[in-house]
Amino acid sequence: MKGHNKKIKNQTSNASDKKISGLVDSMRPLARQVMALKARMEALGMFTNDREFLKCTTCDLAEDVAVDGRLITVHRNGTDWSTDSGLRFKEVERDLFRCPVCGTVQKAEEL
Ligand SMILES: [Zn+2]
Repeated sequence: MKGHNKKIKNQTSNASDKKISGLVDSMRPLARQVMALKARMEALGMFTNDREFLKCTTCDLAEDVAVDGRLITVHRNGTDWSTDSGLRFKEVERDLFRCPVCGTVQKAEEL
C-alpha cells in the first residue's frame, strides 16, 4: 500500500498531490465510521465480510449468514441448512479459529 502511494506521488503534479491528500483527509472520518460500524456489527453477531466463511475440515460444521446478516453455523450433513446450530467457531489467535464440535483449529482466509 505504501509503495503504491509513493508511485502515485511520483507521477503526479503538486496540484494532484493536494487533491489526493484532501481526498484522504475527507475519507478519514468515513473510515472511522466504518470501523465503528464494523465493531457494532461484530458485537451483534453479524458477519462483516472481511474473511472467508469457516468450514471445518474435520467435521461437518460450517459458517453461513442468516437473512438478517447474523453469522450462524450449520451442520453440512444436516437436512436443514437454514437452522442455526447455535455453535460458534472461537478465534483463539488472530485468524485462527477453533471448531466448537471437534476442536480442529484452522486459519481463516482474509478477503
Ligand atoms: Zn469440526
